[in-house]
Amino acid sequence: MNLIRKLALCAAMLGGLTAGPAFAQADASQLSDEQMEEARLFVVDNALYIIMHEAGHMLISELGLPVLGKEEDAVDNLASVIMLESDTDEFDQAIMDAAGGWFLMQNGEDITDNDLMDEHSLNDQRAYTIVCMATGAAPDYFAEFADEIEFPAERRDRCAGEYQQAADSWEAVLADAELGEGDTPTRFDIIYEQPAPDNEVWAGLLHDAQVLETVADLVGSYVKLDDGIRMVATNCGEENAFWSPEERQLTFCYEFAGLYAAEIVNYFAEGGEG
Ligand SMILES: [Zn+2]
Repeated sequence: MNLIRKLALCAAMLGGLTAGPAFAQADASQLSDEQMEEARLFVVDNALYIIMHEAGHMLISELGLPVLGKEEDAVDNLASVIMLESDTDEFDQAIMDAAGGWFLMQNGEDITDNDLMDEHSLNDQRAYTIVCMATGAAPDYFAEFADEIEFPAERRDRCAGEYQQAADSWEAVLADAELGEGDTPTRFDIIYEQPAPDNEVWAGLLHDAQVLETVADLVGSYVKLDDGIRMVATNCGEENAFWSPEERQLTFCYEFAGLYAAEIVNYFAEGGEG
């Protein structure tokens, strides 16, 4: 079942949904077992994408990579490229769920000056860029996905070139750090900190799904970085994720998983289909 297809079809009804309601306010008890399972996968997939995005910031600072254009867009593309190049059913689904995550948090008609001044592209644009990368990478595989969000055919044609450019550019800047045959993979220190009571559910979900380990394996088996980088899932008091160059630490906040859970639970509770 492809969640994002349905999410996109129902995008119009999501206009009034604001980001950030506490999960406690969302009534998960109304969800069917199947919806709960899809909601869990949705949270895990979005966490994977966000952690991969932060790993992009990590690569830029650890390797001193050049950045032409907006770094936030560049690392979104890295996350898409690495997941799409992995070419597994799991990551293909994760890419679609990541687009769905931004669609659920779309700015819609409520775009503010702050949104426009932000270093990130608008959530709507981040969603469509993921769609573009996916259909650019594998037009046949993602054709139905692109059809159902009415992604225009002429735009898809240009996405093929844009995907190739993004993939080639990342490959070129990472070439010097690429691991050779027999090289020891980069090792990361993986830490899931003790969750606050409100975050226990998210901490358990992320830990069981091994989201940090998955990204660490993907990146660590591809490029050589100095050991000692920490990947941490923790309580932050905000819904966010960070890369800290000084501390050499990638942080994913348990609360961020809670935000995605609230979004998807509200979506289902308002009658959205999985
Ligand atoms: Zn970022």
